Amino acid sequence: MHIHIFWDSGAPEGIQTPVVKNITSLAGIQPSVEENPVRLAGYAGEKKQVDAAVLLDSISAYRRRHAIPDPVLLVIAQDLFIPRHSFVFGLAREREGVAVVSSARLGNSFYGRDHSDDDLIDRLSKEGAHEIGHLLGLSHCSVPECIMFKPDTLAELDCKKKMFCPSCRQALESVSIDQIRT
Ligand SMILES: [Zn+2]
Ligand SMILES: [Zn+2]
Repeated sequence: MHIHIFWDSGAPEGIQTPVVKNITSLAGIQPSVEENPVRLAGYAGEKKQVDAAVLLDSISAYRRRHAIPDPVLLVIAQDLFIPRHSFVFGLAREREGVAVVSSARLGNSFYGRDHSDDDLIDRLSKEGAHEIGHLLGLSHCSVPECIMFKPDTLAELDCKKKMFCPSCRQALESVSIDQIRT
């Protein structure tokens, strides 16, 4: 099982190693990390946000064009939205093997608090692992501490722990390579 993480040049520097390390131990997979080669499509100037659905289309097209067999998670700094939602922390399309996570709302500075690398690393690890969970076939979970819980606020995100609950953990471990490659 393999996952590519495309780290955009605008995404936070200096925290890539700890974030990838956390995701590796959380999800039990060893992703490879590359500088993002995909053009950031979907920018909506009036909102100063990126349409996550349009961006996923472009990652998906890149995957097909380059015959990349494994799922891809893109990490970007730009704020994301989808129609009818003012923002999303991230978005995944399991069948196409593509996902994106944004660091825009994961740093303390967005909320007028003092910056902390540790907080940013923590949150990006959780939301990155959450999107990878989707890529591996997991759905949302109702356990507030679980990685697969869908947070709507920073407080809910901070309530999550860096762990999958027992039933999500079981689902994760039952994912076979065949399933994720179709
Ligand atoms: Zn989700
Ligand atoms: Zn769970």
